[in-house]
Amino acid sequence: MIFMKKLIIANWKMHMSLDDAFEFCTKLTEQQYNNQLIIAPPIPYLAYLSDKFKSLEFCGQNVSQFAGQGSCTGEYSSLLLKLSKINYSIVGHSERRNLFQESSELIRQKAENCLKAQVTPIICIGEDLATRKNNNYKNFLLKQLEESLPEVGSLIVAYEPIWAIGTGIIPRKEELIEIFEVLNYYLKQSQVANNISLVYGGSVNLDNIEKILNLQNIDGVMVGKSSLDYQMLVQMLSYK
Ligand code: PEP
Repeated sequence: MIFMKKLIIANWKMHMSLDDAFEFCTKLTEQQYNNQLIIAPPIPYLAYLSDKFKSLEFCGQNVSQFAGQGSCTGEYSSLLLKLSKINYSIVGHSERRNLFQESSELIRQKAENCLKAQVTPIICIGEDLATRKNNNYKNFLLKQLEESLPEVGSLIVAYEPIWAIGTGIIPRKEELIEIFEVLNYYLKQSQVANNISLVYGGSVNLDNIEKILNLQNIDGVMVGKSSLDYQMLVQMLSYK
Protein backbone atom coordinates (compact mmCIF):
# COMPACT_ATOMS: atom_id res chain seq x y z
CA MET A 1 0.00 0.00 0.00
CA ILE A 2 1.55 3.28 -1.11
CA PHE A 3 -1.06 5.64 0.34
CA MET A 4 -2.16 6.27 3.91
CA LYS A 5 -5.53 7.59 2.70
CA LYS A 6 -7.93 6.07 0.20
CA LEU A 7 -6.98 6.92 -3.35
CA ILE A 8 -9.43 8.48 -5.83
CA ILE A 9 -8.12 8.54 -9.40
CA ALA A 10 -10.27 10.84 -11.56
CA ASN A 11 -9.94 9.75 -15.19
CA TRP A 12 -11.30 12.60 -17.29
CA LYS A 13 -10.51 10.80 -20.54
CA MET A 14 -11.17 13.05 -23.59
CA HIS A 15 -13.64 15.39 -21.84
CA MET A 16 -13.79 19.07 -20.78
CA SER A 17 -12.43 22.28 -22.25
CA LEU A 18 -9.26 23.78 -20.80
CA ASP A 19 -11.34 26.58 -19.23
CA ASP A 20 -13.68 24.07 -17.56
CA ALA A 21 -10.74 21.99 -16.30
CA PHE A 22 -9.08 25.13 -14.92
CA GLU A 23 -12.25 26.18 -13.11
CA PHE A 24 -12.78 22.64 -11.76
CA CYS A 25 -9.21 22.55 -10.37
CA THR A 26 -9.53 26.04 -8.92
CA LYS A 27 -12.59 24.91 -6.92
CA LEU A 28 -10.79 21.73 -5.83
CA THR A 29 -7.94 23.73 -4.34
CA GLU A 30 -10.39 25.62 -2.13
CA GLN A 31 -11.36 22.50 -0.13
CA GLN A 32 -9.81 19.91 2.17
CA TYR A 33 -10.53 16.20 1.77
CA ASN A 34 -10.19 12.91 3.60
CA ASN A 35 -8.95 11.02 0.56
CA GLN A 36 -5.99 11.33 -1.79
CA LEU A 37 -6.89 12.66 -5.26
CA ILE A 38 -5.00 12.06 -8.50
CA ILE A 39 -6.47 13.71 -11.62
CA ALA A 40 -5.85 12.38 -15.12
CA PRO A 41 -6.94 15.30 -17.33
CA PRO A 42 -6.84 15.32 -21.14
CA ILE A 43 -3.18 15.18 -22.12
CA PRO A 44 -2.92 18.64 -23.78
CA TYR A 45 -3.84 20.26 -20.43
CA LEU A 46 -1.58 18.17 -18.23
CA ALA A 47 1.61 20.25 -17.92
CA TYR A 48 -0.34 23.50 -17.78
CA LEU A 49 -2.64 22.33 -14.97
CA SER A 50 0.22 20.78 -13.04
CA ASP A 51 2.12 24.06 -13.23
CA LYS A 52 -0.88 26.15 -12.16
CA PHE A 53 -2.14 23.86 -9.38
CA LYS A 54 0.87 22.72 -7.41
CA SER A 55 -1.24 21.47 -4.50
CA LEU A 56 -3.04 18.96 -6.75
CA GLU A 57 -1.59 15.68 -8.04
CA PHE A 58 -1.92 14.98 -11.78
CA CYS A 59 -1.46 11.90 -13.89
CA GLY A 60 -1.03 10.86 -17.53
CA GLN A 61 -3.78 8.77 -19.12
CA ASN A 62 -1.19 6.93 -21.18
CA VAL A 63 2.52 7.11 -21.98
CA SER A 64 4.76 6.10 -24.88
CA GLN A 65 6.51 2.73 -24.94
CA PHE A 66 9.60 4.67 -26.01
CA ALA A 67 11.75 6.01 -23.21
CA GLY A 68 13.71 9.23 -22.84
CA GLN A 69 13.76 11.87 -25.57
CA GLY A 70 14.08 11.45 -29.33
CA SER A 71 12.54 11.45 -32.79
CA CYS A 72 9.11 10.07 -32.04
CA THR A 73 6.48 12.44 -33.39
CA GLY A 74 3.23 12.52 -31.50
CA GLU A 75 4.45 10.52 -28.51
CA TYR A 76 5.37 11.56 -24.98
CA SER A 77 7.60 9.49 -22.73
CA SER A 78 7.56 8.92 -18.99
CA LEU A 79 10.68 11.10 -18.80
CA LEU A 80 8.76 13.99 -20.38
CA LEU A 81 5.97 13.44 -17.85
CA LYS A 82 8.52 13.59 -15.05
CA LEU A 83 10.10 16.73 -16.49
CA SER A 84 6.58 18.24 -16.40
CA LYS A 85 6.45 17.28 -12.69
CA ILE A 86 3.88 14.51 -13.27
CA ASN A 87 4.42 11.60 -10.87
CA TYR A 88 1.82 9.08 -12.15
CA SER A 89 0.55 7.62 -15.40
CA ILE A 90 -2.26 5.22 -16.22
CA VAL A 91 -1.03 2.42 -18.50
CA GLY A 92 -3.07 -0.30 -20.18
CA HIS A 93 -6.54 1.16 -19.69
CA SER A 94 -8.99 -1.20 -21.43
CA GLU A 95 -9.80 1.55 -23.95
CA ARG A 96 -6.11 1.51 -24.97
CA ARG A 97 -5.94 -2.28 -24.94
CA ASN A 98 -9.06 -2.50 -27.15
CA LEU A 99 -9.01 0.59 -29.39
CA PHE A 100 -5.23 0.58 -29.94
CA GLN A 101 -4.60 -3.15 -29.61
CA GLU A 102 -2.13 -2.61 -26.77
CA SER A 103 -0.82 -5.95 -25.53
CA SER A 104 0.20 -6.77 -21.96
CA GLU A 105 3.83 -6.96 -23.14
CA LEU A 106 3.59 -3.40 -24.45
CA ILE A 107 1.98 -2.27 -21.23
CA ARG A 108 4.74 -3.88 -19.20
CA GLN A 109 7.28 -1.95 -21.33
CA LYS A 110 5.43 1.30 -20.64
CA ALA A 111 5.26 0.52 -16.92
CA GLU A 112 8.98 -0.26 -16.81
CA ASN A 113 9.78 3.02 -18.54
CA CYS A 114 7.59 4.82 -16.01
CA LEU A 115 9.50 3.28 -13.12
CA LYS A 116 12.85 4.21 -14.68
CA ALA A 117 11.67 7.82 -14.89
CA GLN A 118 10.31 7.68 -11.32
CA VAL A 119 6.73 7.94 -12.52
CA THR A 120 4.37 5.55 -10.69
CA PRO A 121 2.46 3.46 -13.23
CA ILE A 122 -1.24 2.75 -12.65
CA ILE A 123 -1.57 -0.57 -14.47
CA CYS A 124 -5.12 -1.46 -15.52
CA ILE A 125 -6.38 -5.00 -15.90
CA GLY A 126 -9.89 -6.32 -16.45
CA GLU A 127 -11.92 -8.96 -18.24
CA ASP A 128 -14.69 -8.50 -20.81
CA LEU A 129 -18.17 -9.92 -20.37
CA ALA A 130 -17.56 -13.09 -22.37
CA THR A 131 -14.49 -13.88 -20.26
CA ARG A 132 -16.40 -13.06 -17.10
CA LYS A 133 -19.08 -15.59 -17.96
CA ASN A 134 -16.39 -18.21 -18.27
CA ASN A 135 -15.60 -19.65 -14.85
CA ASN A 136 -11.92 -19.26 -15.57
CA TYR A 137 -11.89 -15.46 -15.51
CA LYS A 138 -9.66 -15.29 -12.43
CA ASN A 139 -6.93 -17.13 -14.28
CA PHE A 140 -7.36 -14.72 -17.19
CA LEU A 141 -6.85 -11.79 -14.82
CA LEU A 142 -3.82 -13.29 -13.12
CA LYS A 143 -2.22 -13.98 -16.52
CA GLN A 144 -2.96 -10.43 -17.68
CA LEU A 145 -1.50 -9.09 -14.45
CA GLU A 146 1.60 -11.26 -14.62
CA GLU A 147 2.26 -10.23 -18.23
CA SER A 148 1.70 -6.52 -17.54
CA LEU A 149 3.75 -6.18 -14.35
CA PRO A 150 7.29 -4.82 -14.48
CA GLU A 151 10.09 -6.64 -12.66
CA VAL A 152 10.10 -4.58 -9.53
CA GLY A 153 8.87 -1.26 -8.20
CA SER A 154 6.28 0.79 -6.46
CA LEU A 155 3.05 0.84 -8.46
CA ILE A 156 -0.74 0.87 -8.52
CA VAL A 157 -2.90 -1.87 -10.04
CA ALA A 158 -6.44 -0.95 -11.10
CA TYR A 159 -8.91 -3.79 -11.54
CA GLU A 160 -11.47 -2.49 -14.01
CA PRO A 161 -13.86 -5.11 -15.41
CA ILE A 162 -14.66 -3.92 -18.95
CA TRP A 163 -18.32 -4.83 -18.52
CA ALA A 164 -18.54 -2.45 -15.54
CA ILE A 165 -16.99 0.58 -17.26
CA GLY A 166 -19.67 3.16 -18.09
CA THR A 167 -22.52 0.64 -17.70
CA GLY A 168 -23.78 1.41 -14.20
CA ILE A 169 -23.21 -2.25 -13.28
CA ILE A 170 -20.57 -3.28 -10.75
CA PRO A 171 -19.53 -6.68 -9.39
CA ARG A 172 -21.39 -7.91 -6.31
CA LYS A 173 -19.75 -7.28 -2.94
CA GLU A 174 -18.79 -10.96 -2.51
CA GLU A 175 -17.28 -10.99 -6.01
CA LEU A 176 -15.20 -7.89 -5.23
CA ILE A 177 -14.01 -9.37 -1.95
CA GLU A 178 -13.02 -12.57 -3.69
CA ILE A 179 -11.19 -11.06 -6.66
CA PHE A 180 -9.28 -8.52 -4.57
CA GLU A 181 -8.24 -11.28 -2.20
CA VAL A 182 -6.95 -13.27 -5.19
CA LEU A 183 -5.09 -10.25 -6.63
CA ASN A 184 -3.66 -9.29 -3.27
CA TYR A 185 -2.48 -12.84 -2.60
CA TYR A 186 -0.85 -13.06 -6.04
CA LEU A 187 0.94 -9.74 -5.58
CA LYS A 188 2.14 -10.60 -2.07
CA GLN A 189 3.58 -13.89 -3.36
CA SER A 190 5.31 -12.33 -6.35
CA GLN A 191 8.75 -10.78 -6.10
CA VAL A 192 7.36 -7.60 -7.67
CA ALA A 193 5.11 -6.61 -4.86
CA ASN A 194 7.29 -4.48 -2.67
CA ASN A 195 4.91 -1.57 -2.72
CA ILE A 196 1.61 -1.95 -4.53
CA SER A 197 -1.78 -0.33 -4.09
CA LEU A 198 -4.89 -2.02 -5.48
CA VAL A 199 -7.85 0.03 -6.71
CA TYR A 200 -11.23 -0.79 -8.25
CA GLY A 201 -12.67 1.00 -11.32
CA GLY A 202 -15.95 0.72 -13.24
CA SER A 203 -19.20 2.66 -12.63
CA VAL A 204 -18.13 3.99 -9.23
CA ASN A 205 -20.67 6.59 -8.10
CA LEU A 206 -22.08 8.20 -4.96
CA ASP A 207 -24.33 5.21 -4.27
CA ASN A 208 -21.60 2.58 -4.26
CA ILE A 209 -18.28 4.28 -3.40
CA GLU A 210 -18.50 4.01 0.36
CA LYS A 211 -19.28 0.29 0.19
CA ILE A 212 -16.34 -0.28 -2.19
CA LEU A 213 -13.85 1.77 -0.16
CA ASN A 214 -14.71 -0.19 2.97
CA LEU A 215 -13.83 -3.56 1.44
CA GLN A 216 -10.62 -5.28 2.45
CA ASN A 217 -7.65 -5.09 0.05
CA ILE A 218 -9.15 -2.13 -1.85
CA ASP A 219 -6.95 0.95 -1.46
CA GLY A 220 -9.06 3.23 -3.63
CA VAL A 221 -11.05 3.69 -6.82
CA MET A 222 -10.62 4.89 -10.38
CA VAL A 223 -13.59 7.00 -11.46
CA GLY A 224 -14.52 8.00 -15.00
CA LYS A 225 -17.94 9.58 -15.59
CA SER A 226 -18.74 10.54 -11.99
CA SER A 227 -15.40 12.35 -11.63
CA LEU A 228 -16.49 14.88 -14.28
CA ASP A 229 -19.10 16.24 -11.88
CA TYR A 230 -17.48 18.56 -9.34
CA GLN A 231 -20.08 18.03 -6.60
CA MET A 232 -19.90 14.27 -6.96
CA LEU A 233 -16.12 14.19 -6.91
CA VAL A 234 -15.98 16.38 -3.82
CA GLN A 235 -18.41 14.10 -2.00
CA MET A 236 -16.37 11.07 -3.02
CA LEU A 237 -13.25 12.71 -1.66
CA SER A 238 -14.88 13.09 1.73
CA TYR A 239 -15.84 9.43 2.24
CA LYS A 240 -13.80 7.40 4.68
C1 PEP B 1 -12.77 4.10 -16.45
O1 PEP B 1 -12.99 4.07 -17.67
O2 PEP B 1 -11.61 4.03 -15.99
C2 PEP B 1 -13.91 4.20 -15.55
C3 PEP B 1 -13.73 3.84 -14.31
O3 PEP B 1 -15.08 4.71 -16.09
P1 PEP B 1 -16.52 4.84 -15.39
O4 PEP B 1 -16.31 5.27 -13.97
O5 PEP B 1 -17.23 5.87 -16.21
O6 PEP B 1 -17.15 3.49 -15.46
